Amino acid sequence: MRASRFHISTYKDSPADAETVSHRLMVRAGLIRKLGSGIYILMPMGWRVVRKVEAIVREEMDRAGGIELSMPVIQPAQLWQQTGRFDKMGAELLRIRDRHGNDFVVQPTSEEVVTDIARQEVRSYKQLPKTFYQIQTKFRDERRPRFGVMRAREFLMKDAYSFDRDAAGAQASYATMAQAYRRIFDRFGLRYRAVAADSGAIGGDLSEEFQVIAATGEDAVVYCPDSTYAANLEKAEALPPQGPRPAPTLPLTKVATPGYTTCEQVAEFLGVPLERTVKTVVLATESKDAGEQGSVRLWIVLLRGDHEMNEVKVRHIEGLSAFRLASAGEIEATLGCPPGSLGPVLPARCPGVRTLADREVAVLADWVCGANEEGFHYTGVQWGRDVPEPDLVADLRNVVDGDPSPDGQGTLCIERGIEVGHVFYLGTKYSQAMGATFLDVDGKPRYMEMGCYGIGITRIPAAAIEQNHDERGIIWPDALAPFTVVLCPVQADRSPEVAAAAEALYAALLAQGIDVILDDRNERPGVMFADWELIGVPHRVTVGARTLQQGKVEYQHRRDAGTTLVAQEEIIAFLQSRLQRRA
Ligand code: ATP
Ligand code: MG
Repeated sequence: MRASRFHISTYKDSPADAETVSHRLMVRAGLIRKLGSGIYILMPMGWRVVRKVEAIVREEMDRAGGIELSMPVIQPAQLWQQTGRFDKMGAELLRIRDRHGNDFVVQPTSEEVVTDIARQEVRSYKQLPKTFYQIQTKFRDERRPRFGVMRAREFLMKDAYSFDRDAAGAQASYATMAQAYRRIFDRFGLRYRAVAADSGAIGGDLSEEFQVIAATGEDAVVYCPDSTYAANLEKAEALPPQGPRPAPTLPLTKVATPGYTTCEQVAEFLGVPLERTVKTVVLATESKDAGEQGSVRLWIVLLRGDHEMNEVKVRHIEGLSAFRLASAGEIEATLGCPPGSLGPVLPARCPGVRTLADREVAVLADWVCGANEEGFHYTGVQWGRDVPEPDLVADLRNVVDGDPSPDGQGTLCIERGIEVGHVFYLGTKYSQAMGATFLDVDGKPRYMEMGCYGIGITRIPAAAIEQNHDERGIIWPDALAPFTVVLCPVQADRSPEVAAAAEALYAALLAQGIDVILDDRNERPGVMFADWELIGVPHRVTVGARTLQQGKVEYQHRRDAGTTLVAQEEIIAFLQSRLQRRA
């Protein structure tokens, strides 16, 4: 490619709405351009990166036996009504109506359509297993689109769906996809972790997220440096504490804590360790057996002051799958005090209110909690004496740095990650809802066992940049760079030798199949170099009159501090060895 025939548009200023490095750099380097909230044009430079991502994904999906097809972006609502998702999915699902008054959705994923294909096309066990995939536009009306293409409303996703005869087959298909994902992310050249994720209502362990490690990631990734344990924060188990609850030593005492409401403030004010304070979270569920508490049931969740509630773990507790936070009004009506000074020391157990204690709270003695009266706390609280034993003790909290690893080897560390892929065993959730059966060996109809596998194609360039950049711009891994090599002639308009040498080198690199761009724009060297450092092309070869006189050109990797002089006749071999090393 010649720069003069390509479209290069770089900017000094960052867009006002850009909160992250990748968003800023993608706009400044001319990779993307905003068209509307969460809607971006992939400009020629950005599109080249996306095409490289796609090519790797496609190759590895094909290698793993995936079969590519293309499903419509606009899909009849009828199919989505069969699984109940048309109503259940909420505002993220964009619904549209045509001129005849028929409802449609814009695909956020494509389980319904692919299951419809399978139920019509797959009749016999002989046609299974099958994994279909597509690389296609998705639309999700995200509550907070942000970070450019990282969390967009319209984006590209690779979505794959496996169909198997039985659960064992589905697990094998899942394993094949999980393995393909490892190859894909290895080839991208990004630092990532595959982490166990919550598999929702289906249970089992067959759900993994692929997280690109970056300080700005939205997700917390938990791992053990001494073992292979890795999970996302939602999933990571906090092991039960060692040892029994210590014997109480203090009487229950009500103390004034004027103006102090958070556990941190109260711990500091009273001079007690934060780990001995207990916070009270009140949840509400709509109760089916109306009558006891109107139709709303309240739940008290007790956590140590230094711990955070884990929403996913709480949702797994029977009766709490659809919880919400109780309103101030509900709390006051039932517990008789405003939120902010709540505690579980209640005059008599409030009827219908259940108390759940995190495992760490259940083993506390002499603890501190709100006194259900503004400006007061209790100290010396004891289980059994002041507060009835909890209705349920469970793991309800997020793990923290230094917790023991659930596999019993070492302690946990937490780092930030960006979710770029997800593999998930679905079971027969969709095949049952849509009646997708096949005839098995014994001639009996069975529901197909499914899995689904996503990769955020347009999120990957953003994640790559979050991980690989400096103050001058992007630093692409070779596999994702819009161009692998940039060839920069210095003032070629003044030196026919420079122009000729650059042209010859350009032709030679193309002949070797190297993805090179020749910067023939006749920009000043400073402007030219600044552009390519911003755009992040990893390998740069500079041809200048002075070094050419010695038969040399200059090489610089985007991460190198300075240039290396390389003999003209050796530069191709030099580049090839560099490219191989990084491939
Ligand atoms: P998130 O937790 O980030 O919202 P998700 O759980 O909704 O992700 P999936 O439904 O598993 O995501 O989608 C598969 C992949 O699609 C994700 O791993 C992610 O890489 C990508 N993706 C999801 N939502 C977006 C978005 N709004 N913009 C860009 N990529 C996205
Ligand atoms: Mg989402």
